[in-house]
This record gives sequence, C-alpha cells and structure tokens, in this order.
Amino acid sequence: MVKQTIQIFARVKPTVRKQQQGIYSIDEDEKLTPSLEITLPRDLADGFVNNKRENYKFKFQRIFDQNANQETIFENIAKPVAESVLAGYNGTIFAYGQTGSGKTFTITGGAERYSDRGIIPRTLSYIFEQLQKDSGKIYTTHISYLEIYNECGYDLLDPRHEASSLEDLPKVTILEDPDQNIHLKNLSLHQATTEEEALNLLFLGDTNRMIAETPMNQASTRSHCIFTIHLSSKEPGSATVRHAKLHLVDLAGSERVAKTGVGGQLLTEAKYINLSLHYLEQVIIALSEKHRSHIPYRNSMMTSVLRDSLGGNCMTTMIATLSLEKRNIYESISTCRFAQRVALIKNEAVLNEEVDPRLMIIHLQKEIQELKDELAIVTGEQRTEALTEAERLQ
Ligand code: ADP
Ligand code: MG
Repeated sequence: MVKQTIQIFARVKPTVRKQQQGIYSIDEDEKLTPSLEITLPRDLADGFVNNKRENYKFKFQRIFDQNANQETIFENIAKPVAESVLAGYNGTIFAYGQTGSGKTFTITGGAERYSDRGIIPRTLSYIFEQLQKDSGKIYTTHISYLEIYNECGYDLLDPRHEASSLEDLPKVTILEDPDQNIHLKNLSLHQATTEEEALNLLFLGDTNRMIAETPMNQASTRSHCIFTIHLSSKEPGSATVRHAKLHLVDLAGSERVAKTGVGGQLLTEAKYINLSLHYLEQVIIALSEKHRSHIPYRNSMMTSVLRDSLGGNCMTTMIATLSLEKRNIYESISTCRFAQRVALIKNEAVLNEEVDPRLMIIHLQKEIQELKDELAIVTGEQRTEALTEAERLQ
C-alpha cells in the first residue's frame, strides 16, 4: 500500500502582455516546497476597506512558470503517475482553474504544433512504449472518455459518430453495487492495442466534444471531461490479473466571481455556475477536515466517478492552472486556496489484483490431474472417474 497526500502543482500560463511583472513571484529557494507569492496591485488592494492584505503565499510541490513547456510538464507531473499506473496502482491527474487558464492546453494540448501535445497524448505514447519494452507481461489497454455536463454523463466515444449536440450522445448513468462500487452504465470501453488506436479514440472523443458544444451550453467551460486509460496486466501462466485506471481530468472552469471590472469595485460572489464543481469542493473540504466521517461523494456524478481519486485507492495529482493577470488575480488566489486544501487529502493506493476465475479453474484442474497421477503411481491403482453414490444423489 502507498499512502500519499494529493500532490499539487501550479502552472502559470504565459501572458500576452509583458507588463504583468510584480503581480507574482516564485520563491524557489525553499528547495523542497517552493511557494508562489501573489501581490495585489495597489489599486486593487485599496478597494477593500476591511481587507488590507496585499500578499498571499501558497506552497506547491512545484511551480511551473510561464516558460515551462509541455515536455517539462509531462516529465515532472504525468510521467511519475504513468509509472505507478504501469506498476498496477490507480492514478488521477486533474487540472483545476478558471476558464482560459490552460486546463485543456495542459491535459489535451494545443492542436497547432506537435510540440504542444498535452498530457493525454504524451502519456499514451509513454505507456505504449513501456508496454512494448516489457515482454514479460501480457497487457490489455482500454480507453473510455466521459463528459459530464449539468450532472449528466455523456459517452464521447460513441461509435456512431453522428452527434450534433451533446444530447445525441449516449447518456451515462451511475450504478452502485452492494459493495458500493461505482459502475458506469453506457460508458463504452474501447480496446486499444497500439498508441495510434488510442490516439484515434482521443481524437474521436475530442471531435465529439467540439461538435457537441454550442454557444448556448458553453460545454467546454461548464463541463468536466474524464479520459480514462484502463490497464490490465498479467504474467504468462499466472491467474492473477492487475487492474489499474488512469483518469486524466479536464474540469469545468472554476470561476464564480462576477468580474465587475478591476477598477476597485467590490467583487460580488456570483451563483455557482457549476453545481458539480461545488460538490467537488464540498468533498474536498470534508476530506481535508479531520474527524469528518461522512464524505458527500454521492451528491454529484463527478464526485461519484472520482471517488477513489479523492481520499481513496488512487495516487492523485492536481494541477492548478493560473492566468496571473491583474484582472484574474482573485480567481488565481481562489484557485491556489483550493489547491492548499486539496494538498491535505490523504489517499491510500493499493495494488488491484484479482484472480481470473477461468484461469484459476484451468490451473486447479491441471493441479488435480497431476496429483491424481502421482497418487496412481504411489498406490498402484487408477482411481475411477465414476461418481460415488452420494455425489450422484447431490
Ligand atoms: P481552459 O481549458 O482552462 O479554459 P485553455 O487550455 O483552452 O484554457 O487555454 C486558453 C488559451 O490559452 C488557449 O488558446 C491555449 O492554447 C492557450 N494556452 C493555455 N496555456 C498555454 C501555455 N502554457 N502555453 C501556450 N498557450 C497556452
Ligand atoms: Mg478548456
């Protein structure tokens, strides 16, 4: 078992203008836990009569500044998670931040340049590369891609290819078995035997994601997308199968503060634009407080799906994406605060091993035969296959 708190990283999106200096600084001197300091510009700070605070300091596992490229992000954040998934542990990486802060760029990547590929394609490439190297085990890989919008789940890998709106996609629902395991009904699993097949599935899902988006539903800012790599492995001749899941999650935009201009007016808290993000926060708060026995996972689809990732059997990593421009300063602070809470959550990842019953039967049958043969040699008599009286009655 591996006990670990959720790892938190920050990534600062490059700003277009160069005049953002002085808003934040990164203190890398504290080698183990660097901190991000956000300084409120004077005109913004003055707007708060009762709040004279001007500096906010947040600790992260690592902070990636504007110049960090996709390769660096993959190597430092995603590769260690991919490695533990290959070893048989569940993993989750989720990006959290306001709309436009770089969640999709970080998780999926930009389409323009090959070097802009994000965590999903790089992770697929890495995993398949490792699988090819490891000829000692038999691996099977499946992909699923779920979008949650307005508390409804949609299967982005619908093979019919004809979605013109989100509602055309198959609706995914949650089923809970007596052992409280979550099952997703209608979410299709697609086997991928090569990197190319897996990338095609990602492409199909992203195409459905785009087609399904209309200006009316603003799906990309209000929905959550969960790309999952299901990996199972077994040694040849063994009946034990290891299952691991890797969720790569692009969350809905976290913004909730109505921007009433940056001219010093008080910002008003707008209604939560996203109920499931609200419930995610409730779960995180409950988990980060000691002595809370009830964790409200069941309140929303997303927290049900990510149940293991939050305080459960999973190694989980959060990337706080920040767009540190003056007008986004409060959103950025709120994202960092959320991350600090997330960092308190403890997970316990275990190897998910299971004995394949069919293989077990074959195994046992073989063993019985061998024992019978041995017995025949020792006793010198062949046991008959005929049933006894009692067996026949039964
Ligand atoms: P979100 O998904 O959080 O709403 P996006 O990932 O769509 O935000 O990013 C908004 C825009 O900024 C996109 O055009 C994206 O390509 C660009 N962008 C985001 N992060 C970076 C980055 N690190 N480097 C270059 N461009 C980026
Ligand atoms: Mg996005």
